[in-house]
Amino acid sequence: MDYDVLILGGGIIGCSVAYELSKYNLNIAVIEKDYDIADDISLINTEIVYDGSECEDKFLSTIEHKGNSMLDEITSKFNVPFKRVGSIKIANENKAIDIIEGIYKRAKERNINDIYLMDKNDVKDIEPNISLDFKKAVYSPNIGVIAPYDLAIAYAEVAFDNGATFRLEEEVTDIKKIVNGFKVTTNKNKFSCRVVVNTIPGEYNTLDSDIKSNGQKESDVHYLILNDRSKPFSNSIITAISDEGDMIKYIPAAGNESLIAINKKGTLKFNDAVRLAKKVVPSIDKDAVNSIYHEKSRNNLVIIDDNENYNGYIRVCGDHYATVTMTPAIASMICETIVSNLTCSKNKNFIDKRREFYKFKDMSDEERNEVIAIDKKYGKITCLCNLISEGEIVDSIRRPLGARTVEGVKRRTGATFGSCHGAHCISKIIYILARELNKKPTDIVEDSKNSKVLASRIKEF
Ligand SMILES: Cc1cc2nc3c(=O)[nH]c(=O)nc-3n(C[C@H](O)[C@H](O)[C@H](O)COP(=O)(O)OP(=O)(O)OC[C@H]3O[C@@H](n4cnc5c(N)ncnc54)[C@H](O)[C@@H]3O)c2cc1C
Repeated sequence: MDYDVLILGGGIIGCSVAYELSKYNLNIAVIEKDYDIADDISLINTEIVYDGSECEDKFLSTIEHKGNSMLDEITSKFNVPFKRVGSIKIANENKAIDIIEGIYKRAKERNINDIYLMDKNDVKDIEPNISLDFKKAVYSPNIGVIAPYDLAIAYAEVAFDNGATFRLEEEVTDIKKIVNGFKVTTNKNKFSCRVVVNTIPGEYNTLDSDIKSNGQKESDVHYLILNDRSKPFSNSIITAISDEGDMIKYIPAAGNESLIAINKKGTLKFNDAVRLAKKVVPSIDKDAVNSIYHEKSRNNLVIIDDNENYNGYIRVCGDHYATVTMTPAIASMICETIVSNLTCSKNKNFIDKRREFYKFKDMSDEERNEVIAIDKKYGKITCLCNLISEGEIVDSIRRPLGARTVEGVKRRTGATFGSCHGAHCISKIIYILARELNKKPTDIVEDSKNSKVLASRIKEF
């Protein structure tokens, strides 16, 4: 067999499964069709770590709750931004109050005990500056904010450092059952393996015949990214729920910028979005908004198909608004199933640590001088808006599974996400990528094969 385990799809689930399995003496590979891992995590993500209380489905609520409880340890050892800021959901109207009371009751029935039904005065004790009009609130102190892309990259880096292979730019085209395992065909190779963990969304092959889709439950989310000069409006996540079930959330930053997420069907004009945002942040004005994005959020059941008649094929499918939260729990369940079915021992050389990195923006002057003395590139600022140094850009390219595209650098470092939207730094990033990858600047791509950023050299016109 070429591999013990082949993980299909290098999203956050694929990377987390690779991390868990790299703790064992197994020959594993992740096959990802794109240039980079975790490229499908939406660039703008709500970044919330849920606690299971909002989730209607009982099984998923349990996985959310378990994932939430595992994240303190994982994020602290990987140095990934994660804060338990707490969440206050507020309601003013009758049906919305029923929704809030329903969340509280359901959570209690499921033994999610750290949840409190409150009135305005109780909320003032937690958020003294809150000036919103509401009648009832439900408070969940365990809900937090995280940098999801950073978490996915961290999982992959540690898995890679512990021996997992990542086969990028390789697209899975077929999976077949063979004696004692599977044959996986890609656009470049054919591999045999004992176990397949298939995390590729949407497309079902013949091995998935038992899995029934529960249909696409899609909703629109409109994001207002607030500029980093505006102070956090509250320490907690504030969610205003309307009678129609629409939600407007203020989310204090885990990484760079705070944001407001408006769950509302259809398109939304900028002025209307700012008007709705006032329901969670009354003092907000247009100047506080850096950019506005529209995304689709999905509420499809995550199905982990591994138990009944286990034959080595594990399918994770579905697309859920809380997948990031569930990831550690899903990965450890899958790992347990595989390890208990394959005879494998623990990897004694496993290093549960991510390689060091520096964030110039968060360092004291003394720390900055120390790192500049080691490498002068940390003294050259590439992204002026977010204070990101050339040293960080170079490190993001040279790290294990480093960035090879402009998008990869942006996501890893946060460059171009400031108020100039990359006008100042994008060309510098392209030239650094070209230098580090030994390519021509005109060959550097945004995020995939056909996305060149520079059309040609100016002299060629
Ligand atoms: C707008 C939005 C907001 C969200 N907010 C939150 C939040 O606040 N909290 C939270 O917990 N979660 C949130 N989520 C959920 C979460 O970000 C995603 O559900 C999660 O990133 C999905 O990860 P995945 O690994 O399951 O799938 P993906 O990231 O889709 O990974 C699958 C991978 O498979 C690869 N692939 C596809 N086809 C092939 C092929 N044939 N061969 C090889 N590779 C292939 C893809 O390129 C991709 O990299 C949000 C999602 C959205 C859309």
